[in-house]
Amino acid sequence: MTVIGRRSPKHKSEILMIIAHLPAGYIVSTLLFPRIQHHGVSRLSFMRAGLFGAVAPDLDMIYFYCFDDRAHPHHSYYSHFPMVWLLLLMLSAFWLHAAKRKELSVLAMIFTANGLLHMFLDFIASNIYWLAPFVNKPFSLITVSRVYEPWWLNFILHRAFGVEIAIVILAIYLWRRDVRRETLSLSLNGCCMLGMSDKTAS
Ligand SMILES: [Zn+2]
Repeated sequence: MTVIGRRSPKHKSEILMIIAHLPAGYIVSTLLFPRIQHHGVSRLSFMRAGLFGAVAPDLDMIYFYCFDDRAHPHHSYYSHFPMVWLLLLMLSAFWLHAAKRKELSVLAMIFTANGLLHMFLDFIASNIYWLAPFVNKPFSLITVSRVYEPWWLNFILHRAFGVEIAIVILAIYLWRRDVRRETLSLSLNGCCMLGMSDKTAS
């Protein structure tokens, strides 16, 4: 699974975007759903595919811990190559364009779009191999110095963690807005049903 990176002393895990992957996937899926719902896909399926895509690249941690013995950074696996996700997104877009029934291709689109989003979020504070597998050079927007132990304290106490907090707050805002809308539409439907049954009774 690993194609780049030398075998070296054990790497620590690199889940450097700690809490924002799922909320970011929720934001993108929520904002995109109104644009694609005419394809007949349910909101629940769309959100599930979107949220799964948002965290899917980090499933390589299973390989990292269980098979690779932490010998290579998990960002050096294919599952963390932006080009892989970009290619999958383009294939999904082509499928969406060509398919007569669009439901599955729409789910593939949101899954791969959020997988690519994962790369951008990881890039904020950790190494991402943007040009891999062609160029073995990692890039990172900022470098977080390792001052504290355990390692994840360095990220929680860094100002870049503010980006994660902002993403989480926006996701909570959208979620509460959706719950309010759903409650309102349910109570309006209830009122309509009551009105109809009153008319029928009279
Ligand atoms: Zn990741």
